[in-house]
Amino acid sequence: MKKRKQISKEQRERIFKRDKNHCQFPRCNLMVRKKARRLEVHHIDFNSSNHSDNNLITLCNFHNSKISNDFLAKIRKEEWVNCFKTKLKKERT
Ligand SMILES: [Zn+2]
Repeated sequence: MKKRKQISKEQRERIFKRDKNHCQFPRCNLMVRKKARRLEVHHIDFNSSNHSDNNLITLCNFHNSKISNDFLAKIRKEEWVNCFKTKLKKERT
């Protein structure tokens, strides 16, 4: 296995801040309030070596593992990629 380059602590914090420390999964906010979840950085294009800011988005650990499992099952991958890309675009305009 190839060794992955880690996302720096500074970059993680920048991504979390940009996303207002909220999971960007659709309608996740309410769930986060009910249960304390850990925030993680997700690679939008599922390429874990593409560490550019516009390929990274904040997800809670629950949704991060959920969509990773979807990806392993090879279902809905494109749906998630488009969903998060659209979300990032909206925030910038
Ligand atoms: Zn979530």
